[in-house]
Formats: sequence, structure tokens, C-alpha cells
Amino acid sequence: MASILIQGGRLIDPSTGEDRIGDLYIHDGCIAPLPRLVPAEASIVKAQGLTVVPGFIDLHVHLREPGGEAAETILTGSQAAARGGFVTVVAMPNTQPPLDTPERVAWVKEQGDKVGLINVLPSGCLTRNRDGFEPADLAGMAAAGAAAFTDDGTTVADENTLREVMRQAAKLDRVVMDHAHDRELEKKGVMHEGAYSRRHGLPGIPSIAESRVVERDIAMAAETGCRLHIQHVSARESVEAIRKAIRAGLRVSGELTPHHLALTDADVDPQDARYKMNPPLRSEEDRQSLIEAIVDGTLEVFATDHAPHTKEAKAKGFLLAPFGIVGLETAIGVTFTALVASGRMDLLTWVRRWTTGPARILGLPAPSLRPGAPAHITLLDLETAWVVDPAQFASRSRNTPFEGKKLVGKAVRIWTSGREFTRAT
Ligand SMILES: [Zn+2]
Repeated sequence: MASILIQGGRLIDPSTGEDRIGDLYIHDGCIAPLPRLVPAEASIVKAQGLTVVPGFIDLHVHLREPGGEAAETILTGSQAAARGGFVTVVAMPNTQPPLDTPERVAWVKEQGDKVGLINVLPSGCLTRNRDGFEPADLAGMAAAGAAAFTDDGTTVADENTLREVMRQAAKLDRVVMDHAHDRELEKKGVMHEGAYSRRHGLPGIPSIAESRVVERDIAMAAETGCRLHIQHVSARESVEAIRKAIRAGLRVSGELTPHHLALTDADVDPQDARYKMNPPLRSEEDRQSLIEAIVDGTLEVFATDHAPHTKEAKAKGFLLAPFGIVGLETAIGVTFTALVASGRMDLLTWVRRWTTGPARILGLPAPSLRPGAPAHITLLDLETAWVVDPAQFASRSRNTPFEGKKLVGKAVRIWTSGREFTRAT
């Protein structure tokens, strides 16, 4: 395989804390020591003014295949991830049919490998058909390559079932990821319950619909010894519960989406379902609590919850449109602009939240730029401002509330095991 020399970039290695200007050499799909003489056939990548980091990981992506190909496929989702700067994504199992058997998990993995742009890690359902009652074959799915387990889109409401699947996941040493929400409390809500939902006359989803399930999950994780990860944390009360659990020594983590970081319920346009997601955008007070948590590490990772939907589906209006927004191609810009460019978070911490953080939660080796590590690399331009234009997305869907937003921070290219992704790929 070819050799590559990435020249003169700012190298940031979250596994060592190293931050320096230098060259990075790739040989045979791995990072290698700089040779005294670079072979003439090596390709040279000029990275002056750019930042070189281990490949970003997104723990929460909906690739929609099988069953939702009108909105996204494993191919278009991989292209969107690669353009967005992600080398590894965890694919959610709430497809149609859901990924609740070893065969279906293996199929997604195979398709991801066939596309071959990025590492697609499938997750498996906790319960059969995501019904919340009958445990799925967790051991079989783990053997078939499931990186994690979740019924994302919903929680496992039945507590005996949750206890059983958490025990199994603990035995298999896989993390359980939960979309914490109480459907009874959520009712038919479409946005955060508060002053803005009342002003817009839209039914609200109260914060307690999330936080009390987070508290239940934590109690159950403590009892079963299971590793627990709370998906898309949105409410201040949930942050407090996670903080307390971590202080008590429990293996509990949480993720922050770019949209919950950057937007609040005050931004919601009730005529525009691109602002409709679950959990909903919450109050400014919640947002500040989320920022504090991602800075201090209570929330250890960003994750996009990339949720593509067709134009037709999102055109049904705020009450009827499905929940969710695309995120892969705006995530780096939104999080960098909101936190690093604004001076609230240092660059190394931001890189950790997209690399070593998610790897730790999955139980993978720490992403690194050291010789011997696989050449999973993201090359970033953190200087140039750009404007979000969904027409340019590789994703098959365009449902983003960030259209027209000016951002700083963008992936220039990625390498997966030393193979380069370019826009023509
Ligand atoms: Zn979810």
C-alpha cells in the first residue's frame, strides 16, 4: 500500500496530550515513524495551517438501511460521515426491520465494509422488534459485531426486561445506550414544555420525561454492573443525575448533540419541522448546564444523532412530521464554533470529546497519532468560515435547522486505515 506524508500540520494527539507542528507518515495503513528518506513514490499532503487529529468517532448515527432508503443508505450515510470528518460511526438499530438478530447486525457490518469509506459499527437492539419486553439475542449479536446495544427511538419501559438485558450486556462487556424518555409523560409532545410551547400553542415534552428515566437507568446500572450511556442528554436534571452517578464511581456516561449545544426552544420556528427533534431543544438554562457538563467532562462525548428524513416527511408540519435532524456534515462546525472559537473549551478537550471519549465508551483502543496506530485520520481546517448549504450535502436528506448558518471548522479530508476519502469518491 502507498505511503503518505502529511506535511507541516498542527498534530494533536488526544491519547498523549501532544500538540505540535510537524509531519505525519503513513505506511501500510498505519501511522509509522518518519523515515530518514521519504520514498519518492510517497504522496505528499501539504497541511500547513491545518490540524491533524485521529479520526473522529460518532456514537449515534441513523443510516436508515434497511427500510428507510428514501432518507439515507449505508452508502450515502458513509459519504456524509466522511465529508463531515468522521472515520467511525455507530449505526443505530431502529431500522425496518430493526437490527435485532445476529444476521441483521452482520449484514449492516458487511454493507459498511463493502462501501469501504469509513468504519461502520452496527449496534443491536436490546429487545426483539424493539418491543421493550422480549430480550434480543445479545450474545449472538455481540459475536456478529454489535458494538453496543440500544432500543434508540425509545427506551425499554419494562423494568424487569431492562434489568435482564443490562445483566446480559454486563456479561458481554458491551455498553447499553439509552434514549431516556417516559412515553407517559411525553404524551404527544413535540417541543420542550415551557413558555415557548405555550406561546406557540404546541404540546410540550417536560424535562422530567427524560430525567426520571435517566435516574431509573442509573439505579439499574448500579444494580446490574452494566456500563450505561445516556444518549442525547437535553435536560439540566439529567446532567445532575449523571454527575452524581460518576462521582459515586458508576460507569455512566452521556452525550451532547450539536443542536442541544447550539440551540434552545426560543429558536424553534413552529412553521418549520426542521426544529423538531426528540428530545426537544430545551431552555437556555438547560443549554448552559449542558455546556458546563461537556466542558467539565460530565458529558464525555459529542454525538450527532444524525437522523435523516425525506423532504415530504418533514413537510407534514410540526405536529405530524417525524422527529430528528441530519448532523454529520455540520457537527464539527457547530461544536467548534459554539465552544472553541467562543473560548469556552480548549482545542484538545474538543478533540477528546470526538475521539478518545467515544472510544472509551465503546471499549475500543484510544485513538492516537503514535506509530503503530491505524491510520484513521481527520484533517481539519479550523480557520476558514463557511456557510451551511444543505444542497451540498452528501446525505440523501437535508433536514437541518442550521441552513444558512455561518460556522468555523470543517473537515478537509479523512483517511480510514490509510485510504483517503476525497469528494469524488
Ligand atoms: Zn434517540
